[in-house]
Amino acid sequence: MVGAYCTSFGNSQSLDNSEGPPDSAIRAARLLDVKTGAFIEDAVVLIKGERIAAVGAGLLIPSGTNVIDLGSVTLMPGLIDCHNHLMMRFGPDEPYYKELVTKSQAYRALEGAANARETLHAGFTTVRDVGNKGSGYADVALRDAINKGLVDGPRMLVATRGIAAVGQYFPFGISPDLQHFPTGAQMISGVEEARRAVREQIGHGADLIKIYADWQYPTLTLDEIRVIVEEAHKLHRKVAAHATTTEGIRNAVTAGVDSIEHGDEPDRETLEMMKKKGTFLVLTVGIYFALSERATNEKQRVFLSQRNELLRRTVSLAQEVGVKIAGGMDAAEAAFHGKNAQQLTVLVQLGVTPIDAIRTQTLNAAELLGWSDRVGTVEPGRFADLIAVDGDPLADITELERVTFVMKGGLVVKGQGKPR
Ligand SMILES: [Zn+2]
Repeated sequence: MVGAYCTSFGNSQSLDNSEGPPDSAIRAARLLDVKTGAFIEDAVVLIKGERIAAVGAGLLIPSGTNVIDLGSVTLMPGLIDCHNHLMMRFGPDEPYYKELVTKSQAYRALEGAANARETLHAGFTTVRDVGNKGSGYADVALRDAINKGLVDGPRMLVATRGIAAVGQYFPFGISPDLQHFPTGAQMISGVEEARRAVREQIGHGADLIKIYADWQYPTLTLDEIRVIVEEAHKLHRKVAAHATTTEGIRNAVTAGVDSIEHGDEPDRETLEMMKKKGTFLVLTVGIYFALSERATNEKQRVFLSQRNELLRRTVSLAQEVGVKIAGGMDAAEAAFHGKNAQQLTVLVQLGVTPIDAIRTQTLNAAELLGWSDRVGTVEPGRFADLIAVDGDPLADITELERVTFVMKGGLVVKGQGKPR
């Protein structure tokens, strides 16, 4: 599946360097198995190259192996943020258009590199980047630079420009005399423009397609979304749809998108359709709650607290219906890059159990990405993407906001064992 850049991997047997002794071993008091929700005590993970070779309790470590003994920590798979914007680094309360007119594309790319590094160091070893917000194809460049080892950052799946209906996405309120003012997404009108946008974006390196199915009101038509899905699926790319309104969500699911992003107000029937079709709900409650703490007046506070209550109902209804849930922080501000784990904290506040919350950004997230054979669990053949926290994340989910060790592809990027 997915990116042109990202080749398809088979099992560990197909790897050239899978033979012979492991290169390194990690030992920890325990490892959280996100599939079963149980801990493996006295855990040992053997690593060969960039992959996991073996996992188990008290495994024999061959002599000559480089051992990283992390002591009393809890080891886990690297986390996956399914809704992020690494190419955007807003200041608080800055207008959107300012990003577009005051920063060069070169500067946007460098900001992306800084955001990527912060995100990786927070324990997020994979990111699905859902729209580069007017930074051209800088997200493709960042993904490729990370893959080549030029820049520190998570594995990335990138959506490039995003697709929105003409006039229905940022920046709003620009003079009509400025016909070529830059926009935060590729603006289309009609099915042929929709088709062209998908082809263009994939041609320039998109791993997935992001659309805005609504913006306060439904925007793209059902026919436009259908064509987008048809073109994307033909080339084995998934479609992620921003949709918050009941009708926008219903349109996007009916047209066959692979995930609903945010999904504030789905009705039960649409959730049941999502369950049937296997459409993911990608929640971004972390950013909603973080922003509501910034409310400056009573009216805003009431609006935001009502929305938060609505989200609580949506989350429990989606769980009741059995919709697959993934999540992301929707970080686009300097203040939130690297704070991605707040999404998990808020999910638990909304009544999700800690293990189910963790699954939304490991097991389920990997399935959404089409990368279940690479990331999301600590199993032989998967990338050696591992994190550690000092305490027990099932007892205190905020432990994930304090990741002390990060390994990506067998290389330590934070904590004990990091090359000097
Ligand atoms: Zn977003």
